[in-house]
Amino acid sequence: MSSFIMNTYNRYPVSFVNGKGSWLKSENGDDYLDFAAGIAVNILGHNHPKLNKAMIENVDKIWHLSNLYKIPEQEKLAEKLCSLSFAEKVFFCNSGAEAVEGAIKVARKYFYSKGEILRNEIITFSGSFHGRTLATLAAAGNPNYSEGFGPMPEGFISVPFADHDAFKRAINKNTAAVLLETIQGEGGIRVLPDNCLKEIRKICTDNGILLIIDEVQSGMYRTGSLFAYDWASIEPDIVTIAKAIGGGFPLGAILTNEKASQGMVNGTHGSTFGGNPLACTIGKKVLDTIEDEDIVSNVKTISQIIFEGLEVLLKKHGNKISGVRGKGLMIGIECLEKNSVITEEAFKEGLLLVNAGDNVIRMLPPLNISQLDAEAGIQKLDQALSNIKI
Ligand SMILES: *Cc1c(COP(=O)(O)O)cnc(C)c1O
Repeated sequence: MSSFIMNTYNRYPVSFVNGKGSWLKSENGDDYLDFAAGIAVNILGHNHPKLNKAMIENVDKIWHLSNLYKIPEQEKLAEKLCSLSFAEKVFFCNSGAEAVEGAIKVARKYFYSKGEILRNEIITFSGSFHGRTLATLAAAGNPNYSEGFGPMPEGFISVPFADHDAFKRAINKNTAAVLLETIQGEGGIRVLPDNCLKEIRKICTDNGILLIIDEVQSGMYRTGSLFAYDWASIEPDIVTIAKAIGGGFPLGAILTNEKASQGMVNGTHGSTFGGNPLACTIGKKVLDTIEDEDIVSNVKTISQIIFEGLEVLLKKHGNKISGVRGKGLMIGIECLEKNSVITEEAFKEGLLLVNAGDNVIRMLPPLNISQLDAEAGIQKLDQALSNIKI
């Protein structure tokens, strides 16, 4: 069927008419269990009554203002994010790529404002994903995504994932920052070990380099803590968030400490939509609801159920899947069969999953998913794996 939409996505042959909690209903009336959650976005599931209420109440007030005026909703959300983390300054935007792109600007401007105008190189790790803008593609250095879009912005050096020696060798007098994901999402749920992150923090501190952590996918309590790097007990200089912060409403942010934000003075960065009243009201409600409903302990409980369930499936279907990795509810299943064959079979069983790099399948269910629904997800995957004949 022809479409007026640009052909950039290979879509499943389905459209959904409504959702409730961890479930979606298709226009044919079929129910799907949503372990994709809009790619780690709908952390409180679909149609959460508190988020709906916040949205409806605020629709009658002001949808949008430019950043020419004070926006109290923005102040409140920024204050909340800072009270929960290392951050002292926040810039709101609308997406993950925009947050990472902005973070790159913040890091470069920091050194520029100190007179170190050539110090603009940023080191990244192979397998990473930071978005689809030119600078974020250049940063990730993955030719599968950047081919044909050149010339690419300069100033990025990619080193092998978690390779400290290569990282140290890449550092030179023009190194401004390192940019990394605590857990690579698109790259296939590749977890940077805590001791590795600690060591990188130390190397950054010793060399006066800024540490930028992209928590667009792993942040917002997906691993059971606000940020995945929390588990390593370190503090970065700059953090990017997006995906889940709006619970489904487009919203992103750059968080920085006071020092790193030094160069970002009046007029240096901006966004028309970034941090509009509606988006920030929803973002604040998402954070408040996570606290009120003790989502953190649910992540812990459900994570255990899913990991244990997957261990059983590993034994039963050892010819199709070979391992499980990840943290909290950011879970990767290593496949022997082609990952897309399994996700398509799971789709037929009414389970939505996401493919990732490294032939991995991602499970990213809503963080408030019930035990029953988590078990149903494992059952559907079990059935899907049984259906595949090899
Ligand atoms: C999804 C993602 C992005 C890009 O976010 P968009 O909102 O799609 O621009 C950046 N970094 C990471 C780690 C992501 O998972």
